[in-house]
Amino acid sequence: MEQRYYQKEIETMPYAQMKKLQSERLVRQVRHVWDNVPYYRSLMEKKGVTPDDIHGVEDLHLLPFISKADLRDQYPYGLLATDLKNCVRIQSTSGTTGRRVVAFYTLKDVDLWEECCARAIVAAGGSREDVVQIGYGYGLFTGGAGLHGGSHKVGCLTLPMSSGNTERQIQFMMDLRATILCCTPSYAAYIGEALKDHGYKPSDNHLKAGIFGAEPWTEEMRHDIEAKLGIKAYDIYGLTETSGPGVAFECEEQNGMHVCEDNFIPEIIDPDTGEVLPEGEKGELVFTSITKEAFPLLRYRTRDICVLHRGKCSCGRTLIKMAKPMGRTDDMLIIRGVNVFPSQIETVLLKEGHTPNYQIIVDRVNNTDTLDINVEMTPEAFSDTVKALSAAEQKLAAAIRLMLGITPKVHLVAPKTITRSEGKAVRVIDRRKLHD
Ligand code: ADP
Ligand code: ZN
Repeated sequence: MEQRYYQKEIETMPYAQMKKLQSERLVRQVRHVWDNVPYYRSLMEKKGVTPDDIHGVEDLHLLPFISKADLRDQYPYGLLATDLKNCVRIQSTSGTTGRRVVAFYTLKDVDLWEECCARAIVAAGGSREDVVQIGYGYGLFTGGAGLHGGSHKVGCLTLPMSSGNTERQIQFMMDLRATILCCTPSYAAYIGEALKDHGYKPSDNHLKAGIFGAEPWTEEMRHDIEAKLGIKAYDIYGLTETSGPGVAFECEEQNGMHVCEDNFIPEIIDPDTGEVLPEGEKGELVFTSITKEAFPLLRYRTRDICVLHRGKCSCGRTLIKMAKPMGRTDDMLIIRGVNVFPSQIETVLLKEGHTPNYQIIVDRVNNTDTLDINVEMTPEAFSDTVKALSAAEQKLAAAIRLMLGITPKVHLVAPKTITRSEGKAVRVIDRRKLHD
């Protein structure tokens, strides 16, 4: 029979009970950090708060935030909360937005992290019958290691492919009959395209599901990947600072990700004022890890923009859900005074029937910001007349203007001319930074 949950009791625990569990763990964690991390103690002292002030989740807001800047500042050992002898693993961020941050894990930390990934795999329909192809990078990046461990825990046959070498990915996917694919959504789209180039139809592979995350992707991108691979595509979220993927994962509803609240308490704050926002409002996601031993962060500001919702889910899980993050505060481009997230542009492109292969180029010419968007044509459109292409460019520019309020210059470029991503896609080139 198909297994519905990996840890039913936790995943379906009534919130009142979960809150009690969180409170106990939070009180213990604050004491652990105070006793073992001098830097944390100084942050708390600056805010005039001691462990005696923290009695439960309701007191969370009294604690200071910690940010990526603190982590970089304290690199490498400054936030370690246990003796190095007790640690068994180091992983590192991808360094998407600057210097890499390293995180430490005890054996128990690794175990809890892998459990979260196992929950994600089971929620995507995984069981011991499955062959899980892991196309996330192995190594310092948390994607490969996390899902690899989760897949073992579920008892799936695990294919540790790592990212890249797309030819081999396809060969093994077909020969070994992979049923679940785990990789970044941009790499999934690329694999889908490569399968088509090999002459395979979506129904030719044995895949039934994909677990994709590590970068923002839109609903439109989900539909594109599902159609290309003939699967259901589930979102998964996480970050090195809190462990890695599996902090939150999607269920069969495919409508937001359940947060593993027994390990992480989420909050949404106003990124400008730090004020905690009520449920349902959009803001910056903050996490407190209440079970980590080696590298426990309290109120870590992720810079990811999203919304939290607690409600009944048809899957039976009671864990709060986070919506798809629309990007990070530092992905937000300010173009001619208008706030633009790359994901908004992706939404329009795919809705208008274009490929998900695009690049956004921002520059400043004569003190005015310029926005150029290169989009690959489909091979079919490639044979269109110059007049038809120019009309298509103008139509797309108008649709983007409608969404953003500013008019971009759209360039339809030849198929296969934009570099494909095997990991986190680089969608934006901001040349203004070079002039500054
Ligand atoms: P880096 O911050 O260097 O990219 P990580 O590899 O730890 O380091 O990536 C974590 C970040 O990746 C998150 O903070 C978030 O911005 C992004 N991310 C992870 N999963 C998702 C997802 N499902 N949707 C959107 N963004 C995601
Ligand atoms: Zn659910």
